[in-house]
Amino acid sequence: MTTPDSSPRAQSSPPLHSMRIAVVGAGHVGATFAYALLLRGLASEIVLLDANHARAEGEAMDLAHAVPLTHPTRVWAGDYGDCAGAAVTVITAGAAQRPGESRLALLERNAGIVGDVVREVVRHNPAGLLLVASNPVDVMAYEAWRLSGLPHERVIGSGTILDTARFRALLGQHFDVDPRNVHAYVLGEHGDSELAAWSTASIAGMPLDDYCAAHGIVCDREDMEAIFERTRDAAYAIIERKGATYYAIGVGLARIVEAILRDERSVLSVSTLIDGYHGIRDVYLSVPVVIGRGGVERVLRPTLTEGEVTLLRRSASVLRERIDELRGMTSPERDALPSGFPPS
Ligand code: NAD
Repeated sequence: MTTPDSSPRAQSSPPLHSMRIAVVGAGHVGATFAYALLLRGLASEIVLLDANHARAEGEAMDLAHAVPLTHPTRVWAGDYGDCAGAAVTVITAGAAQRPGESRLALLERNAGIVGDVVREVVRHNPAGLLLVASNPVDVMAYEAWRLSGLPHERVIGSGTILDTARFRALLGQHFDVDPRNVHAYVLGEHGDSELAAWSTASIAGMPLDDYCAAHGIVCDREDMEAIFERTRDAAYAIIERKGATYYAIGVGLARIVEAILRDERSVLSVSTLIDGYHGIRDVYLSVPVVIGRGGVERVLRPTLTEGEVTLLRRSASVLRERIDELRGMTSPERDALPSGFPPS
C-alpha cells in the first residue's frame, strides 16, 4: 500500500487524470511526435486533432496499426472534448507562409490558430499542461500562457530542446564522444538570435578547453563557431533538402512529455516565462529548467560570461519586439527585425 505524498511539491502539482496525451495539429510534427510517444510506450491514450479531420483520422489509423507491435495504447482522431483529462496537450498546429505574405501577417495568423486552440483546450481541460511547438515557438508559448490563464509553470514551449540536441549531436561528432555525454546548451530564442552557452559546455565535467588540452585535441575557435552556426542554421539546411523538419522535434517533444509523466526532474532547455534573469522579464525564452509532473518545476540560472549575457538580452529583446508587434504596438526598432521567421 502506498502512503499519500504530502510533500509541498505533491500538493502544488496539478492532478493528472490519466496517461492521455492530446495532440492538436496532426501534420509532420504532430504525427511524428505521436509516433515517438507510441514507440516509448509512455501514454495509455493518444488523441489526435486537426482542422483537417481526415488527416487526423489517417494518422490515427496508421499509428493504431503499430500498437500490436509496440505498446498497448488507444489511438484515435478526436475533438476538443477529448482533450478533457489529458495530462499534456501538445500544440503543433500551424500555417506555412503564403507567397507574398509578410512576416507580421504570418505571425498574426499563427497566433490566431494557437489562440483558438488554447481557448478550446483550456475550456475542456483546465487542469492539464500545454506544450507548444508551433512557430515562432517562444512568442506562441507566451501567447498560449497569456490566453490560457494557466500558471506559467504549466505552459511550456519546446524552445531550444531541438537546437540543444542539434548542438550536442554536432559536438559529439566533432569530439568523437557519445553526444549524451556532452553537456552544452543553446539558450534564448528558438531561432536566429539564439546563442551557445560555451562557458557552461563540458564533457565528463571538463570545460571544453580543458578537455581539449588534457587530450591533445585542437579546440579551434573557428571550428567551434562553425559548429554553432550549423546548429543555428540546421533547419534551413534540412528544409532546403526535404521540405520540413520533424524527427528530432518529434523526439524532443516526447522527451519533454516523458519528463513530465515520470516526474523525472530532468534538466532540459525549453521555453519558459523569464522573470528577472539578468534583467530579462515578461518574455518566454529558453534556459535550462527542471521538468517534472507540475511542468517547469525550477528555472535554472547558469552563470554566463558577460558576452553571453549580452547575447541573451539581445535575444530577449527580439522576442519582446515580436510580442509587442503582435499586439499592434509601434517600435522604431521594428524594421531592424530579421525579415523572416527562422524555420525549425
Ligand atoms: P504541417 O503543415 O505538416 O502540419 C500543420 C497541421 O496543423 C496541419 O495538419 C493543419 O491542418 C493543422 N492546423 C492548422 N490550423 C489548425 C487549427 N486551427 N486547428 C487544428 N489544426 C490546425 O506543419 P508541420 O511541419 O507539422 O509544422 C507544424 C508547426 O510546427 C509549424 O508552426 C512549424 O513551424 C512548427 N515546428 C516547430 C519546431 C520547433 O522546434 N518548435 C520544429 C519544426 C516545426
